[in-house]
Amino acid sequence: MAAILDPLKDGKSCLELLAHLGSDLDVVNDARASFGKQAQVLTEKDTKLIRYLIEHQHTSPFRGVVFKFKVKAPLFVCRQWWKHVIASNHNDEQLGWNEKSLRYVAIADANEFYIPDIFRQQSPNNKQATLGALAGAEAETARTIYEAQCEASYAAYQQLLALGVGREQARGVLVPSVYTSWVWTVSLHALLHFIALRQGEGAQQEIAAYAEAILHLIAPIVPVTLQAWQGIALQQF
Ligand SMILES: Cc1cc2nc3c(=O)[nH]c(=O)nc-3n(C[C@H](O)[C@H](O)[C@H](O)COP(=O)(O)OP(=O)(O)OC[C@H]3O[C@@H](n4cnc5c(N)ncnc54)[C@H](O)[C@@H]3O)c2cc1C
Repeated sequence: MAAILDPLKDGKSCLELLAHLGSDLDVVNDARASFGKQAQVLTEKDTKLIRYLIEHQHTSPFRGVVFKFKVKAPLFVCRQWWKHVIASNHNDEQLGWNEKSLRYVAIADANEFYIPDIFRQQSPNNKQATLGALAGAEAETARTIYEAQCEASYAAYQQLLALGVGREQARGVLVPSVYTSWVWTVSLHALLHFIALRQGEGAQQEIAAYAEAILHLIAPIVPVTLQAWQGIALQQF
């Protein structure tokens, strides 16, 4: 298992599992806290208990397992991510969100923009869906326009910094495909909710790629929980 993944496969995006607290065993031990029992190894009975907990929406034992990720993603993906506020959060003190805001350090270079490999077409009848890829000359034109806008945005940013404008204001001209990074601390419960929504119908492919990468990174730590959860596929868990 690679500890660092490149979800968007452009050599710039990044998802790293920095640390975690707990595993499948903690889920069952937390669930049995009311009986004063503590297991050292996971048994077949525990596997059944995890399945039961998920099926019956006994959610709190899944909040005793916590993951800390370092994420590097385009700003527009970060905006979508930021909407997940419960136990993964930036607006109270439950768990953590700490972002490189571009207020204290400037972006490193003109390469710090996400340029899509494929330009998907807008669905005519589903506002939040894209369909097949643009091809040939149209794809080339789309790429040229997209890259030019990123380059112009970076050039304006550099000019403002050179004039002495503060980073906190100069960052306003950067387009939303600029890469940003943050450290995200999240409970297993909130993480499963995030993955279900961001891999679900209507989710944008870019954030879905991060959700898939998260699954890869946590699979060795909570394999029993993932198997039970994927089998049931509860969106609302
Ligand atoms: C496909 C898709 C399209 C989207 N489009 C848009 C969009 O166009 N614009 C936009 O602004 N957002 C959009 N969102 C974000 C969406 O509205 C949610 O904010 C986001 O998915 C986080 O989900 P959540 O609130 O369930 O998660 P969390 O914030 O992690 O909350 C977890 C759960 O806690 C409960 N909860 C959270 N807050 C409250 C509360 N205040 N009161 C009561 N219960 C609460 C709910 O049960 C919630 O499901 C989109 C999301 C998806 C998946």
